Amino acid sequence: MQMYSESDVDTSCLADSQITILGYGSQGRAHALNLKDSGFNVVVGLRKSGASWAKAEADGLVVMEPNDSVKTAKIVMFLTPDMVQKSLYESVVDDIDTGATLMFAHGFAVHYKQIEARSDLNVALIAPKGPGGLVRRQYEEGHGVPCLVAVDQDASGDALKIALAYSAGIGGARAGVIETTFAEETETDLFGEQAVLCGGATELIVAGFETLVEAGYQPEVAYYEVMHELKLIVDLLHEGGLRKMHKFISDTAAWGDMISGPRVVDESSRAAMKGILTDIQDGTFARNWIAENQNGMPEFKRKMQADLDHPIEKVGADLRSHMDWLED
Ligand code: NAD
Ligand code: MG
Repeated sequence: MQMYSESDVDTSCLADSQITILGYGSQGRAHALNLKDSGFNVVVGLRKSGASWAKAEADGLVVMEPNDSVKTAKIVMFLTPDMVQKSLYESVVDDIDTGATLMFAHGFAVHYKQIEARSDLNVALIAPKGPGGLVRRQYEEGHGVPCLVAVDQDASGDALKIALAYSAGIGGARAGVIETTFAEETETDLFGEQAVLCGGATELIVAGFETLVEAGYQPEVAYYEVMHELKLIVDLLHEGGLRKMHKFISDTAAWGDMISGPRVVDESSRAAMKGILTDIQDGTFARNWIAENQNGMPEFKRKMQADLDHPIEKVGADLRSHMDWLED
């Protein structure tokens, strides 16, 4: 394992260079503001018709249409949704300067060959292991979110150096930057969000809620138990792993954890995880997701609505309204 920290990084390769950030959503806003506060020359590329334009300008950033924004850029960072990166690349590629570096925060478009970059360009990845809001907040507090770095195409010979300088600019190098490949970043990132972080965790919560409510317990009590309290456990795990969690929960909770956890996540769950990983590795997941986008996302919208209509959402909204310090 190769890990880089701030002392390994030389940001002089980006001095006086323009960094263009395409997109101003979760990651885009965080990267643009952090880089600007780190003293880099940042331009944000957005469609004038889009909702983010006014927001980026109000944040004090230079904003241009995508084609104009890339013309004099040394780095072009793609922070639009993964599914629009291919068409965006095709619409700006003729305006990108010779020898520039294309960068990504997730390897999907490159790994699944949605984008096959011009041969004079570098192609690199800086993937923060956290959402954009946290990338910004940690930076402002003097900390950083750890990142992964990878190089897919090294036309100039210093693509890694450029990517590491970028990671320092967003604060990632403060926490450590681990070297990986586009394949490893893309496949593990998709697996993590599907099997554990988003898919696995929310399915576990909803199944626990339904089990309690169907057995006749009050939905409000079930909500506190399986959704609200999860944060306390996740914080302990984030700060100190299993050891810290075990230190702070009761012996009764620890015993229940150790004898009952494996009944929920059993051999069949592990087999399902392997199936999910296979679909990611062989391209099945990517093919289906791209096709869903091309069809106007009917299944995405239907499944999303079903999530939002679940009774746990109504109970949760009511209970959270009593805790007005929680951010929506
Ligand atoms: P987002 O949906 O929050 O924001 C997308 C932005 O792109 C918006 O500002 C939107 O207006 C803009 N946009 C959409 N189409 C555009 C176009 N054609 N031209 C110009 N701008 C356009 O996106 P996000 O969640 O920040 O994801 C961006 C990238 O970061 C993705 O590759 C994603 O996989 C990666 N990533 C996201 C997270 C996360 O926590 N959200 C974490 C790590 C990596
Ligand atoms: Mg991720």
